[in-house]
Amino acid sequence: MARIVMKFGGTSMAGIERIRSVAQRVKREHDAGNEVAVVVSAMAGETDRLVGFCREASSLYDPKEYDVVVSAGEQITSGLLAIALQAIGVPARSWLGWQLPIRTSDGHASARIADIDTTALLASLAAGEVAVIPGFQGLAAGERVTTLGRGGSDTSAVAMAAAMKADRCDIYTDVDGVYTTDPRIVPRARKLKRVTYEEMLELASVGAKVLQTRSVGLAMKENVRVQVLSSFVDADGDSEPGTLIVGEEEIDDMERQLITGIAHDKNEAKVTLTAVSDRPGSVASIFTPLADANINVDMIVQNIAHSTGSTDVTFTVPQAELARALDVLEKAQASIGYTSLMHDTRVSKVSIVGVGMRSHAGVAATMFKTLGDRGINIQAIATSEIKVSVLIEEDYTELAVRVLHTAYGLDAEDAA
Ligand code: ADP
Ligand code: ASP
Ligand code: MG
Repeated sequence: MARIVMKFGGTSMAGIERIRSVAQRVKREHDAGNEVAVVVSAMAGETDRLVGFCREASSLYDPKEYDVVVSAGEQITSGLLAIALQAIGVPARSWLGWQLPIRTSDGHASARIADIDTTALLASLAAGEVAVIPGFQGLAAGERVTTLGRGGSDTSAVAMAAAMKADRCDIYTDVDGVYTTDPRIVPRARKLKRVTYEEMLELASVGAKVLQTRSVGLAMKENVRVQVLSSFVDADGDSEPGTLIVGEEEIDDMERQLITGIAHDKNEAKVTLTAVSDRPGSVASIFTPLADANINVDMIVQNIAHSTGSTDVTFTVPQAELARALDVLEKAQASIGYTSLMHDTRVSKVSIVGVGMRSHAGVAATMFKTLGDRGINIQAIATSEIKVSVLIEEDYTELAVRVLHTAYGLDAEDAA
């Protein structure tokens, strides 16, 4: 007997037929004698619809009420799955975030899980009931409903697995594992049997949305055994194994590629300040007000000084925070002392990730040359120990990902 968490994403829960198929899959694990907690997403598209309602109601909506509205999608699917399980003879009940409760910070719309009370839940599992838990939602101090940020059901699942000391956390989605890049963009992408926590964390943070970044960080910290697999393959047959997220010591050298994966992110915006004076403290005068406004800056380029003793500074912020960033910078113009403020949202960030980079020279050079040969201009660069990111014109995103995938020898051999 094992204790397992099964998580089903939006496409896996999209409609009653899909929910029935999920129920069959859960039943199989329950029939095998396992204790099963299921974490579910809202039906595909539902959270977007609910977010749209909030925006329509007021552009300056209260984040506390936004959380009440957008967490509703998961409430519906958790109840529906419990009904579908009961209909096939599996004892089941739903546990809403506030009922367990799942305690979070009060950072509405992107709250962090602090603690999960599993007492009642474990008693219910021990009595043979399946627990169905809506992902994405929690409860902050003052008994206010919170949500965990978009894609947050992955984090709910990993946090549940850690709190319940589950043997595994299986994330079912609409692809059968983690690929070398988004298989919807590059049909030749290859499924990875295993990927390290560290690489998955980096891939998720630079745009591979197959897992929410926080869920991977939590899995790494809590040592949760996470597997990504498809809910769309036959529930009764021996389904293809998915991708296991593992510690680095579990991957042998034979399996190791120079680059493990490639990701892209079209949600960045580029900001440039021209003629900033080239003196100590001037860069701080730009980024301190942005930090005070809680705006995340990602890539930064400072050009060499002009003969006039000034320099241009370029950086990126999430597109969703661009308007606020521009406002902050305009207000700080006198103290920063720039000439003009420019921005561009038609950019995208393409990143290569792999632990192999640590021990091999020339990985970045191959990236720059491959893009250069295709006439793709690089506007900014950022690196970490196991990642190189470049900012390019948005229209070239798919081409860049494809040519890099080929350049690093990642294309599947049997693909056309
Ligand atoms: P869910 O609703 O199940 O949470 P998501 O849409 O959040 O599903 O994540 C699954 C999607 O992630 C896939 O459909 C795929 O297009 C995308 N994706 C991006 N990068 C990758 C990758 N490297 N491997 C697999 N899928 C990826
Ligand atoms: N329903 C939420 C979203 O669309 C959470 C999730 O699916 O993970 O962001
Ligand atoms: Mg998701």
